Amino acid sequence: MKRRNRNALVLTSAFLCVLPAAAQQSEATRRLLERNKMFQPRIIEVADNVYTAIGYQVSANSMIVGNDGVIIVDPGQAPPFAAKVRAEFDKITAKPVKAIIYTHGHGDHTNGAPPFFQPGKGIEVWARSNFGSEQALLAQKGLGGGMRPANSQGFDLLPEQKIGIGIAIPPARRPQGNMMQDGLRRPTDAAARRPGGVPVPPTHTFAEERKKLEIAGVKLELVAAPGETADQLYVWLPDQRVVFAGDNFYQSWPNVYPLRGTARRSLRDWIAAADKMVRENPLHVVGGHTTPMLDNAVEVLTNQRDAMQWVLDRTIEGMRRFMTPDELVAYAALPERFAKLDYLADYYGTVEGTVRDVYAQDLGWFDGDPLSLHRESPRKQSERMAELAGGVDALLQKAEAAMSGGDPLGAAQLLRHVIRLRPDDRGAKAAMADALAIVGERTFNGPVRNYTLSFANRYRRQAEGGE
Ligand SMILES: [Zn+2]
Repeated sequence: MKRRNRNALVLTSAFLCVLPAAAQQSEATRRLLERNKMFQPRIIEVADNVYTAIGYQVSANSMIVGNDGVIIVDPGQAPPFAAKVRAEFDKITAKPVKAIIYTHGHGDHTNGAPPFFQPGKGIEVWARSNFGSEQALLAQKGLGGGMRPANSQGFDLLPEQKIGIGIAIPPARRPQGNMMQDGLRRPTDAAARRPGGVPVPPTHTFAEERKKLEIAGVKLELVAAPGETADQLYVWLPDQRVVFAGDNFYQSWPNVYPLRGTARRSLRDWIAAADKMVRENPLHVVGGHTTPMLDNAVEVLTNQRDAMQWVLDRTIEGMRRFMTPDELVAYAALPERFAKLDYLADYYGTVEGTVRDVYAQDLGWFDGDPLSLHRESPRKQSERMAELAGGVDALLQKAEAAMSGGDPLGAAQLLRHVIRLRPDDRGAKAAMADALAIVGERTFNGPVRNYTLSFANRYRRQAEGGE
């Protein structure tokens, strides 16, 4: 026992000396920090009488100015932040709010409504008739909240580790009372106390495919577009040719499979939603997050649609060839013509996660490998690995060698077996913390990065005697 601990400590110090200093930021970190400049708070004039606020909240919030009032699309995540957006919009026009439109039921698009809404003023609040269906399904299953959303959003990371989620920087303070909550509390608790689950529930809903409205003299169409969520809609302004895509578009690979765990999202629906928007022939597209794409909306949405279709087709073709999900990830990777487009890069969703999700939804957990039908327990697998290496101490040394050789992921894979076999070995956990900290820092995708770093911190706490 004594010797084992000493070995572990030696190992830890060897790990520490290869930790990257701040000066040795990875390419992934540099690119994400550069990307975050997009979220400096400002108002963007999208078209005549159309303005979008970026960087005040995690979501994009828009105002359409009409004859005698304004229409707000997605008021945002929380009243204190939304109030700042309201103040900026008030500098542009003093006209009163006539309507609020929710592109979908997520809290980061709806909970900011109060500063834009006064009861008794006849303000119309529009959404689809299945508004909030995703949260309702989660609540019904009892699976909302917990470690997954907290880790993938990175709420418990150290300040220097927080870099956002790829389509938004973290808010200045820990948010309260909305979906960006830490996840320790069940989302049903607060939501269930409010009718409709949001501070300002819809006053008007529609069940049809397309609802044509005229509000404050502005012609607009609300179009059902299930994709990121089943309750999603887009807003189409035919005169200015602006489409407000909700979360069916933001500058990133779509988050078809969110790590936080949620209702199943359909890649096929998402493709159909992109196709519908392309057919409107828009000039500009305002996404649910990130800055609007101006003058090139058809090109951008066509590429988004075609890239998703390519991944779907390729995944299905590979599935027919009996490829496993691990094999499909390489087989269905984006070709260069899509991979080079920054607005389709893996900032928030990942192509890999999408491929795995299509497989999981269409074929379930069995990957086709007969040995997957005869799995050994995790402990048995780790015992085999240690035996092959010549014992657990030898496995630790192999991990150290991988780390010294610049392969922190390889080290982490080996340390996983060590920790399984010696769950109280703090040295191995400290080494794992070091390895995952480097793997996470080198990860480009926001949620994957946050999740990995959260676990690095957790191993660190355990190594120091915490939970
Ligand atoms: Zn969103």
